[in-house]
Amino acid sequence: KAKNKKLPFWHYENINFKEKNINLDLLAEINNSIENNNFEIYYQPKINLKNNKVQTFEALLRWNHPGKGYISPGDFIPLVEKSSLIEPLTEWVINEVLKDISNFKAKNNSFKYDIAINISARNLQQPNFVELLIDYLKQYNVNPERFSIELTETDLMVEIDKNIKKLNQLKEKGINIYLDDFGKGYSSLKYLKEIPIDFIKIDQYFIKNLTKEKKSLDIVRSIIELAHALNIEVVAEGVETEAQLEVLKDINCNYAQGYLFAKPDKKEKIIEFLKELEAE
Ligand code: C2E
Ligand code: CA
Ligand code: CA
Ligand code: CA
Repeated sequence: KAKNKKLPFWHYENINFKEKNINLDLLAEINNSIENNNFEIYYQPKINLKNNKVQTFEALLRWNHPGKGYISPGDFIPLVEKSSLIEPLTEWVINEVLKDISNFKAKNNSFKYDIAINISARNLQQPNFVELLIDYLKQYNVNPERFSIELTETDLMVEIDKNIKKLNQLKEKGINIYLDDFGKGYSSLKYLKEIPIDFIKIDQYFIKNLTKEKKSLDIVRSIIELAHALNIEVVAEGVETEAQLEVLKDINCNYAQGYLFAKPDKKEKIIEFLKELEAE
């Protein structure tokens, strides 16, 4: 254990040996990048289909790698969340997003949007996660009811009972919960009534096929009906065409997000985007 002195504050005891050989360098790089602020948050709006207005912004992480340029979270989050490095990384995201909200509010007096961040199930298992998040929200004076976390369905199913407990604690504080990538995994429907969720995000896969095959349309329609029966609102993600949007409106989807409205973008661009919205 003397070796531990040399280790950074994250550890990798839960990574299997093969993975260690391949990816330790990558984890060390990510660790350095947190310290050197080589990460960035992009924001993408979610549109309320009742009034066609932006209601929420989702924060999406970008790694601005010193040598390789922008790297998508899909290429490093799956590795990071296998180690406790996900803890400082998520904490960086929380702090950065709340700092940005303060900034948005300073530049736009009527800033009235909700913010959602993505977290990993491993964050829920951090003993102090709920307190940590609440402390940050207090520090930045952000109402927990305007703040949401998104968790993937597949992620949640591991240690589901513990996760439900943690989610209930977050809900008690007013934080909203999204079940992300719904339909992609194979979670049991019975959890829909046991997990305290406010929103379901239908996976892009179904949206892509929505106007192409009847089966996808039937599935999306059924998910929406089931969710509504359970008092859960539905977001369609990856909406790219007017045709998809029309269908989604017809089948009572509540929110839509995707390139049709806006790609995720830097905070400077979001401030411009908000100015244009205000001017409309
Ligand atoms: P996600 O939460 O399902 O996010 C949606 C992904 O789809 C994002 O990819 C987004 O840029 C992309 N997207 C949005 N609209 C469209 C569209 O119309 N068409 C297409 N083809 N794609 C669209 P991104 O930003 O690369 O993020 C990938 C995943 O990484 C996210 O999937 C999320 O699971 C994870 N992630 C992102 N940021 C964080 C973070 O801060 N923490 C954690 N733990 N995970 C994160
Ligand atoms: Ca998400
Ligand atoms: Ca998703
Ligand atoms: Ca996804």
